[in-house]
Amino acid sequence: MNLADRLHTAADRLGGRTVVTLDDEALTYGALDLMSARVAALLRRRGIGVGDRVAVMLPNVPEFAVVYYGVLRIGAVVVPLDPLLRRREIAAYVGDCGPRLLIAWHAFAETAEAGTAGTLTDCFFVVPGEFQRLLRRLAADLDVTPRADGETAVIHYTSGTTGRAKGIELTHGNLGGNAAAVARMHALGVDDVVLGALPLYHAFGQTCSLNATVQAGARLTLLRRFEAGRALEVIRRDGVTVFQGVPTMYIALLDHPGASDLSLLRILVSGGAALPLDVLRAFQTRFGCSIMEGYGLSETSPVASSNRGRNGTRPGSIGRPIKDVEMKVVDEDDGDVPTGHIGEIVIRGPNVMKGYWNNPAATAEAIRDGWFHTGDLGRVDDDGFFFLVDRRRDVIIRGGYTVYPREVEEVLYEHPAVRQAAVIGVPHPELGEEIAAVVTLRTPVEADELQAFVKERVAAYKYPRHVSFADELPMSPTGKILKRAIGTLTRHR
Ligand code: AMP
Repeated sequence: MNLADRLHTAADRLGGRTVVTLDDEALTYGALDLMSARVAALLRRRGIGVGDRVAVMLPNVPEFAVVYYGVLRIGAVVVPLDPLLRRREIAAYVGDCGPRLLIAWHAFAETAEAGTAGTLTDCFFVVPGEFQRLLRRLAADLDVTPRADGETAVIHYTSGTTGRAKGIELTHGNLGGNAAAVARMHALGVDDVVLGALPLYHAFGQTCSLNATVQAGARLTLLRRFEAGRALEVIRRDGVTVFQGVPTMYIALLDHPGASDLSLLRILVSGGAALPLDVLRAFQTRFGCSIMEGYGLSETSPVASSNRGRNGTRPGSIGRPIKDVEMKVVDEDDGDVPTGHIGEIVIRGPNVMKGYWNNPAATAEAIRDGWFHTGDLGRVDDDGFFFLVDRRRDVIIRGGYTVYPREVEEVLYEHPAVRQAAVIGVPHPELGEEIAAVVTLRTPVEADELQAFVKERVAAYKYPRHVSFADELPMSPTGKILKRAIGTLTRHR
């Protein structure tokens, strides 16, 4: 089934109900279906058809949904791009998958044009108002081009990569199945209001906010960008029942003086990065709501596991695999490791990508014997709950000892003065690497005190020999602390 069929079916049933809003802009299911059919007509007029790629560089605006389903409707492939990308990054992604068209928000016109210069990719800019007027002049053909489950729907580019860009090919079956699983897992229904705080260009926001909303007939209320005060206003104004976010959003809500009653929220989900145990507990104490942690990667559509109520929960765990998905922990030779031992997490199931676009070598390296290798290290307990230890590439080797930064970060988060913490390895002439921490603070504290605090709680080789302070940590829009950027920051001090 074409992913856009889910919208078309929902429109048949719920035509007059609102599907997506941004402040006072609102679209009903019927209007979204119709407008996306007009986008389909616009694309067809440009000769774009089945299998062609169309890059989409839009922020969290209702037009994102219009364009997204419009491209899918004709069987073309959406290539979502982070609106903050610079010329070079756009050029790399466009060069890799050769889209016929780049549809960008008017404010990014200059970068979009620079990024596509010298390629066969045309640009089309979405100017609000003008865009709607243009669409109204086009005849809508509501037919949706049928697509088999295994056909590619979306190509996501992995952010912050070096070397050759890798496009993650996700199929109609991958995405539709994952959105349906999310909707089922949270029992989403027509009365739910989902906060669109996550960026829609990323797999997390796209599947869990946009596609799961449409799947359930619910309503999505968008935030252009996350800011705790604004999020709280919208939660109250629109009666939000579902909040899906990254840990930094939860930290920002905890720190916001205006945060009081969140009792309308029925479902709170955190994913994309490790949710510090201390944040989980503080949230529960302050608001009486528990945060469910989920885990996945863009390559897995993205949701692979969830620490959800029905199956029981384990604080600090990423839970158990969702329905139809399998996860296990393997050693370097792909052999199963005993329960409780650390190894690489591998995933198998209908959510695993088709492969990396036009890159059979990278695909064969990542998917072996049907198992997708995540590059994340973790362990599983006797009851099948998975615990993430760290990303393999972030592990620090100090004088032959392995240090998992996350373990040290968790201890730093326990200190009341610490707001955010990142632990990294810095070059050391004898040890190879030395442990360093960069923290942002709630209240003033000396580096010595933080060092002593950690030293008391972990083995001697793990505590940070260098502690530095920053006003902000470099973060990706999906809540990941950019450790490579911190590495350069500390070297320049
Ligand atoms: P992306 O491909 O941008 O979706 O990022 C996927 C990566 O995010 C995974 O490989 C993990 O390292 C990280 N991640 C996702 N969920 C969690 C989680 N609950 N806890 C810790 N890390 C996570």
